[in-house]
Amino acid sequence: MTEYRPYTDYRTGEPVADTKAPEGPVAERWDTRRFQAKLVNPANRRKHTVIVVGTGLAGGSAGATLAEQGYHVVQFCYQDSPRRAHSIAAQGGINAAKNYRNDGDSVHRLFYDTVKGGDFRARESNVHRLAQISVEIIDQCVAQGVPFAREYGGLLDTRSFGGVQVSRTFYARGQTGQQLLLGAYQALSRQIAAGNVEMHPRTEMLDLIVVDGRARGIVARDLITGRIDTYFADAVVLASGGYGNVFYLSTNAMNSNATAIWRAHRRGAYFANPCFTQIHPTCIPRTGDHQSKLTLMSESLRNDGRIWVPKAKGDTRPPAEIPEAERDYYLERIYPSFGNLVPRDIASRAAKNVCDEGRGVGPGGQGVYLDFADAIARMGRKAVEDKYGNLFDMYERITAENPYEVPMRIYPAVHYTMGGLWVDYDLQTTVPGLFAVGEANFSDHGANRLGASALMQGLADGYFVLPSTINDYLARNPHHDEITADHPAVQEALAETEDQLNLLLSVDGDRTPDSFHRELGELMWELCGMARTETGLRKALDRIPQIRDEFWRRIKVPGTGEEFNQSLEKANRIVDYLELAELMCLDALHREESCGGHFREESQTPDGEAERRDETFSYAAAWEFTGTGAAPVLHKEDLVFEYVHPTQRSYA
Ligand SMILES: Cc1cc2nc3c(=O)[nH]c(=O)nc-3n(C[C@H](O)[C@H](O)[C@H](O)COP(=O)(O)OP(=O)(O)OC[C@H]3O[C@@H](n4cnc5c(N)ncnc54)[C@H](O)[C@@H]3O)c2cc1C
Repeated sequence: MTEYRPYTDYRTGEPVADTKAPEGPVAERWDTRRFQAKLVNPANRRKHTVIVVGTGLAGGSAGATLAEQGYHVVQFCYQDSPRRAHSIAAQGGINAAKNYRNDGDSVHRLFYDTVKGGDFRARESNVHRLAQISVEIIDQCVAQGVPFAREYGGLLDTRSFGGVQVSRTFYARGQTGQQLLLGAYQALSRQIAAGNVEMHPRTEMLDLIVVDGRARGIVARDLITGRIDTYFADAVVLASGGYGNVFYLSTNAMNSNATAIWRAHRRGAYFANPCFTQIHPTCIPRTGDHQSKLTLMSESLRNDGRIWVPKAKGDTRPPAEIPEAERDYYLERIYPSFGNLVPRDIASRAAKNVCDEGRGVGPGGQGVYLDFADAIARMGRKAVEDKYGNLFDMYERITAENPYEVPMRIYPAVHYTMGGLWVDYDLQTTVPGLFAVGEANFSDHGANRLGASALMQGLADGYFVLPSTINDYLARNPHHDEITADHPAVQEALAETEDQLNLLLSVDGDRTPDSFHRELGELMWELCGMARTETGLRKALDRIPQIRDEFWRRIKVPGTGEEFNQSLEKANRIVDYLELAELMCLDALHREESCGGHFREESQTPDGEAERRDETFSYAAAWEFTGTGAAPVLHKEDLVFEYVHPTQRSYA
């Protein structure tokens, strides 16, 4: 068994810099980079193999596009079909600066809103590129036949999301992710049928193979037979999604996990801003210990629903019996210009504050109302049904309450992770040849993602950015040397994977993987969740190594490795959560400021808003792995703001 010692410290190493974003006006950088990037001759592309791990919006679009370009793609997902990736759950919409409404939107405004919304912790070059590409994404998806909602005249409809004052969110009822994913999946299926994509569903990447400092393949396990194989390529793309499930309860799909990115981190890829977690304000409140999942009610509902709690503490009257004068529409009161459409971090904290004051509603006082009575009176029930019908049905199925008649009850829950593998402008990690796209990278969202921007980023990365930048890498690194299974680096990665699975099977303890996962998740939610303090984080950093130690003494994984074994899959993922959680807490501890989703109680304004400390913390924190339980190395990437100057965020 491995010996662990807790760490509460770290070393600071050399700064890390993005050397790929060109100089010059921000609006021209993407064109400049694409022109500078070397191309691979179309006839040579078929000689290159690219591994893509993941088939969500980021991986599905990347795999389809790379194959369309002529590369040989070997793609993986753990679901039974690529189209079941977690992206399918996205409800509310996707942003794009089309300005169809003529309401003052522009690429620059989307850029500005995203940098500001992210509390000035994102890279300007990347965010501007994202805003530029947003426009092309909609055209691409419409061409694929994605059935976006339309207005009577036929133009695509839009709605508003938090943190902005224009209406730029394109949607397909409450199923935007599903419809977009079907578009990407069709494109991918075409390439599978053409023989350009070799698809491996139900196969989980368990390690990265690095040869001579370059990513050259992966180790993966067939989840049905348990067979472990190695796969080789000229470049590896991770599109494996976010790690919100480290908290056990989240709105993510149950199987979403951190293994692909964490194992890549262990092999040398820096992990950036791990503590930046998004807590979404509109989720169905938790009802007890039996739950293994939380459900999101889309942010789009804040367009028409009004959020309130009783003015008086401990008021347990049914909502209909609480007169208007005794209700506190607290977001409208505190933030009159944005009202219910403040960004997620602000809305979540405000909900927590009113519940902490004892004004929360529902069991345990852990809820606030999201009320559609006014919307129904204004628009009529039919119009509300047309816009949000499937979300209302879902709410009723889960809570047995009819939201057309009784206000919904909502509470914040873990939803998205802004942190992830550090990537440069080309989306390349610190391991040459290893790229990360979508939620798996540390993304363009800074410390807080605005609603409807994850789909935009995933598709921007997969359809547009990666297919341009990976050419440059492949053109410069043609890899004439063939890798074979007997290469020492391959043998080492394979042996480590097998040893860990065997160890998990051999402990034969008395606790289930879920019991450890729940314990870790509760600790993280309490001490590294919506509010963080130095004392709490130190406590978590003390406790996590103890849980990890207990895990290796008491884990019980029934069955064998040569069969479908979900306990083994879970336990293996928890090993990674137990390390990642420690890094998240350390990152949160070292960042002694509040910004976006990271709220340090010690750093707040007199009004209780997040207080950034730009002079000290205007950087992305990229962490280098040095061993389990060993102090990691912090590499800072300084953030420079030439166009959107950091100010105290105000939505009042
Ligand atoms: C309930 C919900 C609603 C949301 N609504 C919106 C919205 O309206 N608008 C918006 O912009 N964003 C929304 N988001 C966020 C958005 O859905 C996600 O950020 C985005 O879909 C992530 O896409 P992805 O392609 O990066 O990863 P995912 O969709 O998570 O896909 C990950 C893929 O990687 C594969 N994978 C992972 N690990 C491995 C491994 N080790 N081996 C093999 N395969 C692996 C999986 O099988 C899967 O195919 C929502 C999120 C949730 C939870």
